[in-house]
Amino acid sequence: MTIGVLREPAFENRVSLLAENLSPLLKSGIAVIVETGAGLHACCSDQDYEREGATILSREEVLNRSDVLLSLHDELIGTSLQHKILIGIYQPLYRYEVMEKWAGQGIISFSLDMLPRTTRAQTMDVLSSQANIAGYKAVLIASTLFPRYLPMFMTAAGTIAPARVMILGAGVAGLQAVATARRLGAVVEVFDTRTAVKEEVLSLGGRFIEVPGAADASAAGGYAVEQSADFQERQRAKIAETVAKSDIIITTAQIPGKPAPILISAAMIETMKKGSVIIDLAAATGGNTELTKNGETIVHQGVTISGSSSLASTMPYDASKLYGRNVVNFIKLITGTGGALHMNYEDDLVRGCCITRDGQVVHERVKSLLGN
Ligand code: NAD
Repeated sequence: MTIGVLREPAFENRVSLLAENLSPLLKSGIAVIVETGAGLHACCSDQDYEREGATILSREEVLNRSDVLLSLHDELIGTSLQHKILIGIYQPLYRYEVMEKWAGQGIISFSLDMLPRTTRAQTMDVLSSQANIAGYKAVLIASTLFPRYLPMFMTAAGTIAPARVMILGAGVAGLQAVATARRLGAVVEVFDTRTAVKEEVLSLGGRFIEVPGAADASAAGGYAVEQSADFQERQRAKIAETVAKSDIIITTAQIPGKPAPILISAAMIETMKKGSVIIDLAAATGGNTELTKNGETIVHQGVTISGSSSLASTMPYDASKLYGRNVVNFIKLITGTGGALHMNYEDDLVRGCCITRDGQVVHERVKSLLGN
């Protein structure tokens, strides 16, 4: 079997496999071909890939000769990919129309963001490996935009109070943001509708602000669910109190397949001190604030609001290295002896992230979004 690594579109710095990820694939008998320049933005040259045993080719050759194509994004659309196998992060709950086109082209697609969040899937969990980076980077970016210190300082010239950081949503990104803000000495307060995360927040040194009466999300695989109007109202009031006192806010609240909940209104932002910073990691699905613009940083009445859904791409080396490990582990799951393809659709992980095959969209949630 031959795996092809494609160069990503211009907005993306990551690559699906770094040279250092190749060895387990090559040892199992899989050939790896890489598009010229694919790893350049992730600090991996064509020579690095060649040294590890890959072959560098043009895009056209990689597209023609690969059985499996690796590309993080779905920009391949339009290219003739009949019967190829694609592995990436395709966000099929939002990009279901692309998936329908792929089905029509006979493509077998695996979208790793749809893997079930189970213990067995952890080594392939791309949402976790990438969200961890986003949470970390969000705090670092906020700290450079913020015109003050984060830690408390007692100096001869006077005392500096620690910054107050509020985190909305304590999933993987949110918890890493708590940890990073704490390491930098900030006081951290956290909201999440899932009270199950309270212990984790406390153990990282954050304060968990509880709003009683959240909808039970236990049947949603650990994900959040939409909340009642009454809960939202009470949550909004509690959030408003904390927003006014916060210097930095990192928002990460998302509900898979739905627009992100708007948890911070323009009026709330107007109560913040000048120089305050909001980093909205939910920007791609609409954002958690009323003013977020995806991919843009704006200033509203002295408050900087950055809509940043692609922060993993700003740390491309480690993001690619960890993503590459996730991909290699998934490839092990769909290959057998001698590196030959062996896709067992009875396996809940293989089935869970398979979006198209046999000329059809086969993933139930994606199918229902298409009205099938
Ligand atoms: P996510 O990106 O889907 O959401 C981020 C957080 O926002 C979640 O904690 C969610 O509860 C919260 N949120 C949503 N709506 C909110 C609202 N209105 N107000 C406040 N907070 C709100 O989350 P994620 O990081 O992808 O994690 C989702 C789940 O998967 C978590 O339970 C996580 O622990 C679990 N998980 C499991 C595994 C595994 O077992 N393999 C790995 C990683 C994550």
